[in-house]
Amino acid sequence: MNSFLEKAKALDKIDPLIGFKEKFVNNPSLIYLDGNSLGKLPLKTIETTSNIVKNQWGNRLIRSWNEHWIDLSNEIAKKIALIVGAQPDEIFVGDTTSLNLYKLLFAALTLQKDKTEIITDDLNFPTDLYIIQGLIKQQFKNHSLKVLKSNNEVFIDSATISEAIKKNTSLITLSLVSYKSSFLYNMKTINNLAHKNDSLVVWDLSHAAGATTIKLNETNADMAVGCTYKYLNGGPGSPAFLYVRKDLQNKLTNPIWSWFAHQKPFDFDPNFIESSGIQKFAISTPSILSLGAISPGLDIILEAGIENIQAKSSKQSVFLMDLIQKYLIPLNFKVASPLDQTKRGSHISITHEESYRINRAMITPKNINEKIIIPDFRPPNLIRIGITPLYTSYQDLYEAIIRISEIVTSKEYENFSTEKLTVT
Ligand SMILES: *Cc1c(COP(=O)(O)O)cnc(C)c1O
Repeated sequence: MNSFLEKAKALDKIDPLIGFKEKFVNNPSLIYLDGNSLGKLPLKTIETTSNIVKNQWGNRLIRSWNEHWIDLSNEIAKKIALIVGAQPDEIFVGDTTSLNLYKLLFAALTLQKDKTEIITDDLNFPTDLYIIQGLIKQQFKNHSLKVLKSNNEVFIDSATISEAIKKNTSLITLSLVSYKSSFLYNMKTINNLAHKNDSLVVWDLSHAAGATTIKLNETNADMAVGCTYKYLNGGPGSPAFLYVRKDLQNKLTNPIWSWFAHQKPFDFDPNFIESSGIQKFAISTPSILSLGAISPGLDIILEAGIENIQAKSSKQSVFLMDLIQKYLIPLNFKVASPLDQTKRGSHISITHEESYRINRAMITPKNINEKIIIPDFRPPNLIRIGITPLYTSYQDLYEAIIRISEIVTSKEYENFSTEKLTVT
């Protein structure tokens, strides 16, 4: 028997997290490697959300605000705090990643108004870049943006960052794990470099939360945002979170003054008085149906333990890289992620000139007995293979790589058009 397959089976056998897959909706003829874009549905979520809809909304109606809903966001914040190494009163859950980033960047730039440079990098997610561009154009017109250039869109040297940060650097905003290459920053190093120059750091944890160990307090992080629908399995478009270190909360102001940021929203006071703690970053009535879907996924992560999840992710990432080297490099694939596992998040990106059509063939096999394999595609030619330790097995990784190699050798991808679908 093939030694990689034997090894995969042996590793699955001793995997302490193997049982967690059963907590999700699974389809035996589908291998899902896109948990870094949209996590799977936890079985418990079906029950939880139907209870919210049928009983809380259907029967109890508005009484549910006091009975269940008004503290829901705080209950979820407590769980996220445990996953990202923060205190419960440093996390707000609601709105979207983009909106939360806007609030924090606006607030931080206002606080540091004597400094006029903003730093980010070309590995950052487009929405993050757009928000900075918009803030400069609309509000912080004297500010300039420095976009650090990565090496081949794969990684950034820490020397590049340390040379870039100057006394005039107001803030640095980066994705902890790059959505493209999976490059993982050392949070502590960057925070220290910034703080030496009295600069602030805003982290985007979207591609890291739930798959890597994050220690916001221990690394003295200032601010962060993140989404809950990727490795946290909160469901499509589920509300995001933001983090502000306790001692910074009083110094920052939410640019959007609104009733949920008011000290006493239910006094219906005609004048705005800012709430004191993390609640000041709220805006509106919480989206209860989608908030309600977040908790079951977080409970699974807390039960498994984020350290155990990270340990499995690291081990699987090394196994996946070995498979790629053995089966795909000879077929003209290139690795577009750091080769050093300690510098990667929980996905690996590979490129091939036929990436888009290979990705289509994986999702829609010609032979109906073949398993469907879902990775994702990012332009111009990245195939991202996401490892979600809670439900990805070593054998899944083996089968996915063998399947890719077969699609290329048989040229099965030629059955597909190069025309892109709307959501890739
Ligand atoms: C997924 C992701 C987002 C998504 O932003 P939304 O406003 O929730 O759509 C933002 N930033 C990063 C780094 C992401 O990975």
